[in-house]
Amino acid sequence: MTVFTRRGLMLVLSSPSGAGKTTIVNDLLNSERRLKTSVSVTTRPKRLSEIDGRDYYFVSPEEFNRRIEAGDFFEHAEVFGNMYGTPRQFVMDSLTDGDDVVFDIDWQGTQQISQSARDDLVTIFILPPSLEELELRLRGRNQDSEDIIRSRMQEASAELSHWAEYNYIVVNYDLHESVKIVKSILEAERYRRKRQVGLASFVNNMRILPH
Ligand code: 5GP
Repeated sequence: MTVFTRRGLMLVLSSPSGAGKTTIVNDLLNSERRLKTSVSVTTRPKRLSEIDGRDYYFVSPEEFNRRIEAGDFFEHAEVFGNMYGTPRQFVMDSLTDGDDVVFDIDWQGTQQISQSARDDLVTIFILPPSLEELELRLRGRNQDSEDIIRSRMQEASAELSHWAEYNYIVVNYDLHESVKIVKSILEAERYRRKRQVGLASFVNNMRILPH
């Protein structure tokens, strides 16, 4: 089989906290060979189950500001009173190498990336089946205090208002089904003409007529 160069794409998944996005991303990463994840930098305190460098890079607000000044971030935003940012270099290198990168970021980050790199971007919004289900999932996670859960429920409504800015919308009724849908979106997007950068010479070689 002929293999020609493909440019990687950026797959953004956004949703209110608790809609199942992180589980979908982890599932995708386990099964997609050429998909990497962008590990964000944050000033939020680490949760018990989280590992520095795997879930996030946890830094102080001073360090975060230093990185903004240095231009280290591809995008950054304040979410729930904490700062979050995507390291630039990792993303650029992965796309050039032909790897896809999946992002779990909010609507603000998605808007910033779509202004600077729209051609490489595919966006998916994950909706919970209902607000009640969202609250159940946030509580079931057992990681946040009551105050945080209440404020996240309020933020959910703000996040939901941005659903129409996304290319694809998936209602997460069933995790297995949602992963399947997201995978098929990824697979189709990989075949877009503009991403298959080696295609022109591949076709040109085929058009050279034998003597
Ligand atoms: P959590 O604190 O629950 O891990 O994430 C809170 C929110 O921050 C989620 O909506 C998540 O998508 C968003 N987020 C995580 N990393 C980034 C990032 O690097 N940039 C932006 N803009 N949002 C992020």
